[in-house]
Amino acid sequence: MPAVDDRPLVNLVGRPAHDLVVLLTDSVRRPFYARQVARWLTERHATSFEEMTDLPKQLRSELGRRFRISDPEILETARSRDGSVKWLFGLDDGLSVEAVAMPDGAKLTLCLSSQAGCAVGCLFCVTGALGAGRNLRPDEIVGQYRVMLRDLAVSVDRVNIVFMGMGEPLLNTTHLGVALETLFHRVSPKRITVSTSGILPGIRWLAGLSRPPKLAVSLNAPDQERRRFLMPIADRYPLDELMAELRRFPLERGRRITFEYVLIRDVNDAPGDPQALARLIRGIPTKVNLIPLNEDADHFPDLRRPDDDSINRFAMALRDAGITVTVRWSKGLDVDAACGQLKGRHQGSPTRRQAS
Ligand code: SAH
Ligand code: SF4
Repeated sequence: MPAVDDRPLVNLVGRPAHDLVVLLTDSVRRPFYARQVARWLTERHATSFEEMTDLPKQLRSELGRRFRISDPEILETARSRDGSVKWLFGLDDGLSVEAVAMPDGAKLTLCLSSQAGCAVGCLFCVTGALGAGRNLRPDEIVGQYRVMLRDLAVSVDRVNIVFMGMGEPLLNTTHLGVALETLFHRVSPKRITVSTSGILPGIRWLAGLSRPPKLAVSLNAPDQERRRFLMPIADRYPLDELMAELRRFPLERGRRITFEYVLIRDVNDAPGDPQALARLIRGIPTKVNLIPLNEDADHFPDLRRPDDDSINRFAMALRDAGITVTVRWSKGLDVDAACGQLKGRHQGSPTRRQAS
Protein backbone atom coordinates (compact mmCIF):
# COMPACT_ATOMS: atom_id res chain seq x y z
CA MET A 1 0.00 0.00 0.00
CA PRO A 2 1.69 3.29 -1.02
CA ALA A 3 1.90 6.18 1.43
CA VAL A 4 0.28 9.50 0.66
CA ASP A 5 3.50 10.78 -0.88
CA ASP A 6 3.94 7.50 -2.80
CA ARG A 7 6.89 6.19 -0.81
CA PRO A 8 6.21 2.61 0.34
CA LEU A 9 5.24 2.38 3.99
CA VAL A 10 7.89 1.00 6.33
CA ASN A 11 6.94 -2.43 7.68
CA LEU A 12 7.34 -2.70 11.46
CA VAL A 13 7.26 -6.53 11.59
CA GLY A 14 10.48 -8.39 12.38
CA ARG A 15 12.28 -5.53 14.16
CA PRO A 16 13.59 -5.94 17.70
CA ALA A 17 12.15 -3.58 20.33
CA HIS A 18 15.20 -1.29 20.52
CA ASP A 19 15.12 -0.73 16.72
CA LEU A 20 11.41 0.02 16.86
CA VAL A 21 11.89 2.56 19.63
CA VAL A 22 14.58 4.38 17.61
CA LEU A 23 12.49 4.23 14.43
CA LEU A 24 9.26 5.39 16.06
CA THR A 25 10.35 7.99 18.58
CA ASP A 26 10.44 10.68 15.92
CA SER A 27 6.87 9.94 14.78
CA VAL A 28 5.23 9.45 18.14
CA ARG A 29 7.23 12.24 19.82
CA ARG A 30 7.22 10.55 23.21
CA PRO A 31 9.58 7.57 23.81
CA PHE A 32 6.92 6.18 26.14
CA TYR A 33 4.54 5.69 23.20
CA ALA A 34 7.32 4.20 21.06
CA ARG A 35 7.98 1.60 23.76
CA GLN A 36 4.27 0.82 23.91
CA VAL A 37 4.08 0.24 20.15
CA ALA A 38 7.20 -1.95 20.38
CA ARG A 39 5.55 -4.03 23.09
CA TRP A 40 2.39 -4.45 21.03
CA LEU A 41 4.45 -5.75 18.13
CA THR A 42 7.09 -7.93 19.78
CA GLU A 43 5.12 -9.31 22.72
CA ARG A 44 1.50 -9.25 21.63
CA HIS A 45 1.98 -9.78 17.90
CA ALA A 46 -0.38 -6.95 16.97
CA THR A 47 -1.60 -6.95 13.37
CA SER A 48 -2.97 -3.39 13.22
CA PHE A 49 -2.54 -0.02 14.89
CA GLU A 50 -6.27 0.02 15.77
CA GLU A 51 -5.62 -2.80 18.24
CA MET A 52 -3.25 -0.57 20.23
CA THR A 53 -6.06 0.82 22.31
CA ASP A 54 -3.83 2.35 24.98
CA LEU A 55 -2.50 4.83 22.40
CA PRO A 56 -4.39 8.04 21.53
CA LYS A 57 -6.63 7.54 18.49
CA GLN A 58 -4.97 10.35 16.57
CA LEU A 59 -1.55 8.81 17.08
CA ARG A 60 -2.80 5.45 15.79
CA SER A 61 -4.05 7.12 12.58
CA GLU A 62 -0.76 8.98 12.23
CA LEU A 63 1.19 5.71 12.58
CA GLY A 64 -1.03 4.08 9.96
CA ARG A 65 -0.11 6.83 7.48
CA ARG A 66 3.63 6.24 7.93
CA PHE A 67 4.05 2.57 8.75
CA ARG A 68 2.48 -0.79 8.06
CA ILE A 69 2.26 -4.10 9.91
CA SER A 70 2.44 -6.77 7.20
CA ASP A 71 2.99 -10.51 7.41
CA PRO A 72 3.45 -13.02 4.60
CA GLU A 73 0.15 -13.98 3.00
CA ILE A 74 -1.24 -17.46 3.54
CA LEU A 75 -1.67 -19.06 0.12
CA GLU A 76 -2.45 -22.58 1.29
CA THR A 77 -2.66 -24.60 4.48
CA ALA A 78 -2.48 -28.38 4.65
CA ARG A 79 -3.22 -30.39 7.77
CA SER A 80 -1.88 -33.90 8.07
CA ARG A 81 -3.46 -36.78 9.99
CA ASP A 82 -0.69 -36.76 12.61
CA GLY A 83 -1.48 -33.15 13.50
CA SER A 84 1.32 -31.36 11.67
CA VAL A 85 0.33 -28.36 9.59
CA LYS A 86 2.09 -26.89 6.57
CA TRP A 87 1.67 -23.36 5.28
CA LEU A 88 2.56 -22.00 1.87
CA PHE A 89 3.34 -18.31 2.28
CA GLY A 90 3.29 -15.78 -0.55
CA LEU A 91 5.98 -13.07 -0.48
CA ASP A 92 5.56 -9.62 -2.00
CA ASP A 93 7.64 -10.41 -5.11
CA GLY A 94 5.62 -13.49 -6.08
CA LEU A 95 7.98 -16.07 -4.54
CA SER A 96 6.68 -18.41 -1.89
CA VAL A 97 8.10 -20.40 1.01
CA GLU A 98 6.79 -23.14 3.24
CA ALA A 99 6.83 -23.64 6.97
CA VAL A 100 5.63 -26.50 9.15
CA ALA A 101 4.24 -26.81 12.67
CA MET A 102 4.78 -30.15 14.38
CA PRO A 103 2.94 -30.79 17.63
CA ASP A 104 4.68 -33.25 19.93
CA GLY A 105 2.87 -33.87 23.18
CA ALA A 106 3.10 -30.70 25.25
CA LYS A 107 5.41 -28.90 22.88
CA LEU A 108 5.01 -27.43 19.46
CA THR A 109 7.91 -27.16 17.03
CA LEU A 110 7.82 -24.59 14.25
CA CYS A 111 10.08 -25.27 11.29
CA LEU A 112 10.79 -21.96 9.54
CA SER A 113 12.34 -21.06 6.19
CA SER A 114 15.28 -18.67 5.92
CA GLN A 115 15.55 -18.40 2.12
CA ALA A 116 13.28 -18.89 -0.89
CA GLY A 117 15.29 -21.66 -2.58
CA CYS A 118 18.85 -22.65 -1.67
CA ALA A 119 22.15 -22.26 -3.50
CA VAL A 120 23.84 -25.14 -1.66
CA GLY A 121 22.20 -27.72 -3.92
CA CYS A 122 22.37 -30.93 -1.88
CA LEU A 123 21.56 -33.94 -4.03
CA PHE A 124 18.72 -35.18 -1.84
CA CYS A 125 16.92 -31.88 -1.21
CA VAL A 126 13.90 -30.50 -3.02
CA THR A 127 14.66 -26.94 -1.88
CA GLY A 128 18.15 -27.25 -3.37
CA ALA A 129 16.60 -28.23 -6.69
CA LEU A 130 14.81 -24.84 -6.76
CA GLY A 131 18.15 -23.05 -7.04
CA ALA A 132 19.44 -19.99 -5.22
CA GLY A 133 16.23 -17.98 -4.79
CA ARG A 134 16.83 -15.16 -2.34
CA ASN A 135 17.37 -14.36 1.33
CA LEU A 136 14.25 -13.78 3.39
CA ARG A 137 14.06 -10.45 5.21
CA PRO A 138 13.53 -10.30 8.99
CA ASP A 139 9.83 -9.45 8.51
CA GLU A 140 9.43 -12.52 6.29
CA ILE A 141 11.18 -14.78 8.80
CA VAL A 142 9.42 -13.49 11.93
CA GLY A 143 6.18 -13.15 9.93
CA GLN A 144 6.05 -16.94 9.40
CA TYR A 145 6.14 -17.42 13.17
CA ARG A 146 3.51 -14.72 13.79
CA VAL A 147 1.07 -16.09 11.23
CA MET A 148 1.53 -19.71 12.30
CA LEU A 149 0.83 -18.93 15.95
CA ARG A 150 -2.20 -16.86 15.00
CA ASP A 151 -3.55 -19.57 12.75
CA LEU A 152 -3.00 -22.32 15.33
CA ALA A 153 -4.05 -20.19 18.31
CA VAL A 154 -1.64 -21.88 20.73
CA SER A 155 0.14 -20.46 23.72
CA VAL A 156 3.68 -19.28 23.01
CA ASP A 157 5.11 -21.02 26.09
CA ARG A 158 5.07 -24.30 24.25
CA VAL A 159 6.98 -23.23 21.17
CA ASN A 160 10.36 -24.36 19.81
CA ILE A 161 11.70 -22.93 16.57
CA VAL A 162 13.99 -24.75 14.17
CA PHE A 163 15.48 -23.21 11.04
CA MET A 164 15.16 -26.41 9.06
CA GLY A 165 12.69 -25.26 6.44
CA MET A 166 13.74 -23.90 3.08
CA GLY A 167 17.19 -22.43 2.67
CA GLU A 168 20.56 -22.20 4.37
CA PRO A 169 20.18 -19.85 7.36
CA LEU A 170 23.92 -19.26 7.69
CA LEU A 171 24.04 -17.81 4.17
CA ASN A 172 21.56 -15.19 5.40
CA THR A 173 23.19 -14.12 8.67
CA THR A 174 22.40 -10.39 8.44
CA HIS A 175 18.65 -10.90 8.27
CA LEU A 176 18.71 -13.99 10.48
CA GLY A 177 20.49 -12.01 13.22
CA VAL A 178 17.77 -9.33 13.29
CA ALA A 179 15.02 -11.97 13.16
CA LEU A 180 16.58 -13.90 16.05
CA GLU A 181 16.80 -10.80 18.22
CA THR A 182 13.11 -10.15 17.56
CA LEU A 183 12.11 -13.76 18.24
CA PHE A 184 14.11 -13.71 21.50
CA HIS A 185 11.49 -11.30 22.93
CA ARG A 186 9.14 -14.29 23.10
CA VAL A 187 11.25 -17.43 22.61
CA SER A 188 14.41 -18.16 24.56
CA PRO A 189 17.62 -18.79 22.53
CA LYS A 190 17.76 -22.27 24.02
CA ARG A 191 14.47 -23.09 22.28
CA ILE A 192 15.68 -21.95 18.86
CA THR A 193 17.89 -24.15 16.64
CA VAL A 194 19.75 -23.03 13.54
CA SER A 195 20.54 -25.90 11.16
CA THR A 196 23.39 -25.54 8.69
CA SER A 197 24.98 -27.54 5.91
CA GLY A 198 28.35 -26.49 7.37
CA ILE A 199 28.97 -22.89 6.27
CA LEU A 200 32.15 -22.12 8.26
CA PRO A 201 31.97 -18.31 8.28
CA GLY A 202 28.34 -18.60 9.41
CA ILE A 203 29.26 -21.00 12.22
CA ARG A 204 31.90 -18.50 13.39
CA TRP A 205 29.28 -15.74 13.26
CA LEU A 206 26.96 -17.85 15.42
CA ALA A 207 29.76 -18.59 17.88
CA GLY A 208 30.30 -14.84 18.35
CA LEU A 209 26.69 -13.95 19.19
CA SER A 210 26.06 -12.74 22.73
CA ARG A 211 22.87 -14.83 22.87
CA PRO A 212 23.52 -17.79 20.56
CA PRO A 213 20.70 -20.13 19.58
CA LYS A 214 21.38 -23.87 19.40
CA LEU A 215 23.40 -25.27 16.52
CA ALA A 216 22.53 -28.26 14.33
CA VAL A 217 24.86 -29.42 11.57
CA SER A 218 23.72 -31.54 8.65
CA LEU A 219 26.52 -34.08 8.38
CA ASN A 220 24.83 -36.71 6.21
CA ALA A 221 27.99 -38.78 5.63
CA PRO A 222 30.85 -40.06 7.79
CA ASP A 223 33.62 -39.14 5.32
CA GLN A 224 34.58 -36.31 2.98
CA GLU A 225 34.17 -38.32 -0.21
CA ARG A 226 30.54 -39.25 0.33
CA ARG A 227 29.74 -35.89 1.89
CA ARG A 228 31.03 -34.13 -1.24
CA PHE A 229 28.90 -36.40 -3.37
CA LEU A 230 25.75 -35.55 -1.42
CA MET A 231 26.59 -31.95 -0.51
CA PRO A 232 28.71 -30.03 -3.04
CA ILE A 233 29.35 -27.37 -0.37
CA ALA A 234 31.82 -29.82 1.21
CA ASP A 235 34.30 -28.90 -1.55
CA ARG A 236 34.36 -25.35 -0.21
CA TYR A 237 34.14 -26.29 3.48
CA PRO A 238 35.75 -29.74 3.82
CA LEU A 239 34.74 -32.14 6.56
CA ASP A 240 38.04 -31.96 8.50
CA GLU A 241 37.84 -28.15 8.66
CA LEU A 242 34.20 -28.34 9.68
CA MET A 243 34.95 -30.76 12.51
CA ALA A 244 37.90 -28.65 13.69
CA GLU A 245 35.64 -25.58 13.80
CA LEU A 246 32.97 -27.47 15.73
CA ARG A 247 35.52 -28.68 18.29
CA ARG A 248 36.33 -25.02 18.95
CA PHE A 249 32.66 -23.97 19.07
CA PRO A 250 31.89 -22.32 22.44
CA LEU A 251 29.00 -24.38 23.81
CA GLU A 252 27.00 -23.00 26.71
CA ARG A 253 26.71 -25.26 29.75
CA GLY A 254 24.44 -28.22 29.16
CA ARG A 255 24.21 -27.60 25.42
CA ARG A 256 25.09 -30.04 22.68
CA ILE A 257 25.55 -29.81 18.94
CA THR A 258 22.96 -31.80 17.02
CA PHE A 259 24.23 -33.69 14.00
CA GLU A 260 21.60 -34.43 11.39
CA TYR A 261 22.15 -37.43 9.20
CA VAL A 262 19.74 -38.11 6.33
CA LEU A 263 19.76 -41.88 5.86
CA ILE A 264 19.93 -42.92 2.20
CA ARG A 265 19.91 -46.57 1.20
CA ASP A 266 23.26 -47.87 -0.13
CA VAL A 267 24.78 -44.39 0.08
CA ASN A 268 25.45 -43.70 3.76
CA ASP A 269 23.92 -46.65 5.64
CA ALA A 270 26.68 -49.30 5.27
CA PRO A 271 27.44 -51.60 8.26
CA GLY A 272 30.64 -49.73 9.27
CA ASP A 273 29.11 -46.24 8.89
CA PRO A 274 27.65 -45.81 12.40
CA GLN A 275 31.09 -46.54 13.91
CA ALA A 276 32.82 -44.18 11.46
CA LEU A 277 30.30 -41.48 12.34
CA ALA A 278 30.83 -42.09 16.07
CA ARG A 279 34.63 -41.76 15.63
CA LEU A 280 34.19 -38.53 13.66
CA ILE A 281 32.14 -36.77 16.35
CA ARG A 282 33.78 -38.32 19.42
CA GLY A 283 34.59 -35.76 22.12
CA ILE A 284 31.94 -33.23 21.02
CA PRO A 285 28.91 -32.95 23.35
CA THR A 286 26.40 -34.12 20.82
CA LYS A 287 23.30 -35.94 19.77
CA VAL A 288 22.61 -37.42 16.38
CA ASN A 289 19.26 -36.99 14.66
CA LEU A 290 18.76 -39.66 12.01
CA ILE A 291 16.36 -38.56 9.26
CA PRO A 292 15.18 -41.31 6.93
CA LEU A 293 15.20 -39.82 3.43
CA ASN A 294 11.95 -38.34 2.19
CA GLU A 295 11.95 -39.77 -1.29
CA ASP A 296 11.10 -37.66 -4.31
CA ALA A 297 10.61 -39.42 -7.62
CA ASP A 298 10.79 -36.19 -9.64
CA HIS A 299 13.96 -34.67 -8.23
CA PHE A 300 16.12 -37.64 -7.16
CA PRO A 301 14.52 -40.89 -8.33
CA ASP A 302 17.67 -42.95 -7.61
CA LEU A 303 17.87 -42.10 -3.92
CA ARG A 304 15.84 -44.35 -1.63
CA ARG A 305 15.01 -44.49 2.04
CA PRO A 306 16.42 -47.55 3.87
CA ASP A 307 13.85 -49.96 5.29
CA ASP A 308 12.81 -49.52 8.92
CA ASP A 309 14.95 -52.47 10.11
CA SER A 310 18.16 -50.95 8.71
CA ILE A 311 17.25 -47.58 10.18
CA ASN A 312 16.80 -49.19 13.60
CA ARG A 313 20.05 -51.15 13.22
CA PHE A 314 21.93 -47.95 12.34
CA ALA A 315 20.48 -46.21 15.42
CA MET A 316 21.34 -49.16 17.70
CA ALA A 317 24.93 -49.31 16.41
CA LEU A 318 25.37 -45.60 17.16
CA ARG A 319 23.92 -46.11 20.65
CA ASP A 320 26.31 -49.01 21.21
CA ALA A 321 29.13 -46.64 20.30
CA GLY A 322 27.99 -44.33 23.10
CA ILE A 323 26.16 -41.70 21.01
CA THR A 324 22.76 -40.24 21.94
CA VAL A 325 20.46 -40.86 18.98
CA THR A 326 16.96 -39.89 17.92
CA VAL A 327 15.23 -41.00 14.74
CA ARG A 328 12.92 -38.51 13.06
CA TRP A 329 10.16 -40.82 11.93
CA SER A 330 8.65 -38.43 9.42
CA LYS A 331 5.78 -36.28 10.45
CA GLY A 332 3.17 -35.09 8.06
CA LEU A 333 4.22 -37.23 5.14
CA ASP A 334 0.69 -37.37 3.83
CA VAL A 335 0.81 -33.64 3.12
CA ASP A 336 4.50 -33.53 2.20
CA ALA A 337 4.93 -31.48 5.33
CA ALA A 338 8.09 -33.07 6.65
CA CYS A 339 10.95 -30.72 7.39
CA GLY A 340 13.48 -31.06 4.61
CA GLN A 341 10.76 -31.70 2.07
CA LEU A 342 9.71 -28.14 1.51
CA LYS A 343 9.25 -26.88 -1.99
CA GLY A 344 7.62 -23.49 -2.07
CA ARG A 345 6.83 -22.23 -5.52
CA HIS A 346 8.62 -19.90 -7.83
CA GLN A 347 6.23 -17.46 -9.50
CA GLY A 348 3.51 -20.09 -9.45
CA SER A 349 -0.19 -19.28 -9.53
CA PRO A 350 -1.40 -21.19 -6.50
CA THR A 351 -5.03 -21.27 -5.58
CA ARG A 352 -5.55 -18.36 -3.24
CA ARG A 353 -7.62 -18.61 -0.17
CA GLN A 354 -8.72 -15.92 2.22
CA ALA A 355 -6.28 -15.50 5.09
CA SER A 356 -8.23 -16.14 8.27
N1 SAH B 1 20.05 -25.75 4.96
C1 SAH B 1 20.01 -26.21 6.29
C2 SAH B 1 18.63 -26.21 6.90
C3 SAH B 1 17.49 -26.60 6.00
S1 SAH B 1 17.52 -28.30 5.50
C4 SAH B 1 20.64 -27.60 6.39
O1 SAH B 1 20.90 -28.20 5.36
O2 SAH B 1 20.88 -28.03 7.52
C5 SAH B 1 16.96 -29.09 7.00
C6 SAH B 1 17.27 -30.55 7.11
O3 SAH B 1 16.51 -31.29 6.14
C7 SAH B 1 18.73 -30.88 6.84
O4 SAH B 1 19.23 -31.68 7.90
C8 SAH B 1 18.69 -31.68 5.56
O5 SAH B 1 19.76 -32.61 5.51
C9 SAH B 1 17.32 -32.32 5.64
N2 SAH B 1 16.79 -32.77 4.36
C10 SAH B 1 16.85 -32.13 3.17
N3 SAH B 1 16.26 -32.87 2.21
C11 SAH B 1 15.79 -33.99 2.81
C12 SAH B 1 15.09 -35.13 2.35
N4 SAH B 1 14.74 -35.29 1.06
N5 SAH B 1 14.78 -36.08 3.25
C13 SAH B 1 15.12 -35.95 4.56
N6 SAH B 1 15.77 -34.90 5.04
C14 SAH B 1 16.12 -33.93 4.19
FE1 SF4 C 1 20.06 -26.14 1.10
FE2 SF4 C 1 19.82 -27.50 3.43
FE3 SF4 C 1 18.56 -28.32 1.18
FE4 SF4 C 1 21.20 -28.55 1.35
S1 SF4 C 1 19.69 -29.60 2.66
S2 SF4 C 1 20.06 -27.77 -0.43
S3 SF4 C 1 21.71 -26.72 2.49
S4 SF4 C 1 18.17 -26.44 2.29
